[in-house]
Order: sequence, then structure tokens, then C-alpha cells
Amino acid sequence: MSQPVIFLPNPALPLVEDALDREFQVLRGATASTDEIQKAADLVRGVSVFQARIDEAFLDRFPNLEIVANFGVGYDAVDAKACAARNIMVTNTPDVLTEEVADTAIGLMISAVRQFGAAERWVQSGNWERNGSFPLSPGTLRGRTLGVYGLGRIGKAIAARAEAFGMEVCYHGRNRQSDVAYAYHDTLVGLAQACDTLMIATPGTPENRNAVSTEVLEALGANGVVVNIGRGSVVDEPALIAALDKGTILGAGLDVFADEPRVPTALLNRDNVVVLPHIGSASIHTRNGMGQLVVDNLVRWFAAGEAVTPVPETRHVKPGTRRAV
Ligand code: NAP
Repeated sequence: MSQPVIFLPNPALPLVEDALDREFQVLRGATASTDEIQKAADLVRGVSVFQARIDEAFLDRFPNLEIVANFGVGYDAVDAKACAARNIMVTNTPDVLTEEVADTAIGLMISAVRQFGAAERWVQSGNWERNGSFPLSPGTLRGRTLGVYGLGRIGKAIAARAEAFGMEVCYHGRNRQSDVAYAYHDTLVGLAQACDTLMIATPGTPENRNAVSTEVLEALGANGVVVNIGRGSVVDEPALIAALDKGTILGAGLDVFADEPRVPTALLNRDNVVVLPHIGSASIHTRNGMGQLVVDNLVRWFAAGEAVTPVPETRHVKPGTRRAV
């Protein structure tokens, strides 16, 4: 029997490209012409994606698509509800990246509180030799309370690390978590009032778009630091910039942005903001673990008719049930 055809819109890690070549026939967006892709569209049964938008228009192009294997735990670029309506399986890559992302979040938090970005620029620019010591940081980790917005796998791993730093931990999400003793706040404003370091570790969804608003930033207060390791859409960026300008909050550490890779100029080159280019999980070790899980999902789907890590919206989907809409 011929191998299933997998569409790879963008180049993937060598580990993924090699494994897909061994297991499947691969149609590559990077090398095939639009015409060639269109001609092969009926044969495509799986797609492996990294940060590519999978919307209704994309699904319309591939009438026999059965599975979308997303590289990343966050799958906000994939319209999972539209996939569920057509009985298309969607998978993501949870767990294998949790510890790496939590490490990044803690590094970013300390960098933001102690202004490591500005301190590094001080050395790199020769200021240390010319002008002496870097100014004392207004912020310290001592006595801080961490408020985690989205206490899921990554949020819990961040919280465990923060406890080791002597921080108090509290959280907000849509539900109270039964397996932790941290204080729960049933609103985001309530959480911001109770903490001074707001750690965003939620997915980006239509419901929580711009959730970190002027009101939330005012509640966080003048010693407040926002750390975003979740998704840029969760923060109202103009409100954040205004809060930084006015001194409503002390600073921010940002790994994710509303319109990546574009970062508002007002967030660049300021002492009280540390920016990273969405590198939460971006080590070779962890990205390879994520890549292997993408491959495992595709292989198991076509060999055994089930996915390893289906997203909740499509957990019920079975092979051979693809529907037209
Ligand atoms: P998870 O285990 O599903 O946890 C998500 C948490 O967010 C849950 O506690 C959930 O609790 C809460 N949540 C979900 N939707 C929400 C909403 N609309 N409003 C408020 N809270 C909501 O996921 P995870 O593995 O920890 O990953 C979390 C997110 O981190 C990913 O979705 C992704 O966006 C982001 N991420 C970023 C990077 C990076 O490189 N920066 C890397 C990996 C992941 P409730 O259901 O109780 O609300």
C-alpha cells in the first residue's frame, strides 16, 4: 500500500523532515509550486505545521485531510473548532516543553525585575568602563508575590520554581485547581491586586484577548512587573506601553507579542522592559522532543487510528469520519 501523503507548508527540524521522509510521502510547500500543491491536494491526508495558520480556507483546499499535527502546545493558529466540525484530528505537543518554558519564564522574570537587559547593554556599549557602575535596580525579587494567570502544566512548573525562590504564589484561571494549595482569585483584577509579579501562562484565545488591560495593570501597581510567556494577544499592548510610560507598573519581561515578529518600538531599548524573540521552548533538546511528538502523532494516527496527544476539541475524532461542511 502506498504511504499517506503529508503536507509540510514550511521547512521543519531535520529530525522531523527525516522521519516524515521515512514514514510518509511528503509534499513540501517550500519546494512545490502552487500548481503542484493544488494537483496533489486530494491525496493529502495529514499536515505538519509550525506557526502556520490553519483556517477554513486552508481546510477547503484539502478535502481528504484527516489530521493536523501542530508543532507547539499552543495551537491558537489552528482553527480547532473548524477541524472538529469536519472530523479532522488536531494534535499538539504538551509536556515535552513544560520544564524548558518554565525555565525561560523564571529567567525572564528575574531579568525584568533586576533589569538584566539594560545591565547587559551597559557593558556591551562600554558604559561600565566610561561611566562606572550600572545604577541600582529599583526592583528586587525579595518579598515578591507571583500571580500566575493560567495555572496549567507550564504555570505549575513556574510556580514550583518561584516557591524555591521564596516567593508567595497565587493564581487565576477559569477554574480552581484541586491539586494545589495556592490562593485562588476568581478574577484577573483580583489576582493583580493580590500580587506584584503577574506571570501570564495561558493560551491565547478569543475570550482572553487583551485580558491584561489598563484596569489589571492599575491593580498590579507601581511595583508591578508583567511577565508574558503565554501569548501576546492576552496583553493589551498599547495599555502596557502607557502603564510603563506613566509608571503605573515597574516593568515587563516579554517573550511573546501581539503581532510577531513585529515588536512595538515603544517596547524596545527601555531599561524597564526585557524582550525575547518567542524562545520559551527554543533549545535543540526541547524542540527535538516536540518534533518527535509531532511525528509520533502522525505515525500512530495512520498505523493505529488514534492520536498520542489530541487537543480537547478533537479528542472524539475517529479515522474515516471526515465530513464536508
Ligand atoms: P495547559 O496545561 O492547557 O494550561 C493552560 C492554563 O490556562 C490552564 O490552567 C487553563 O485553566 C488556563 N486557561 C485556558 N484558557 C484560558 C482562558 N481563556 N482564560 C483564562 N485561563 C485560561 O497549557 P500549557 O501546556 O501550560 O501551555 C500554556 C500556554 O503557554 C500555551 O497554550 C501557549 O500559548 C503558551 N506557550 C508559550 C511558549 C513560548 O515559547 N513562549 C511555549 C509553550 C507554550 P482553566 O481551564 O481553568 O482556565
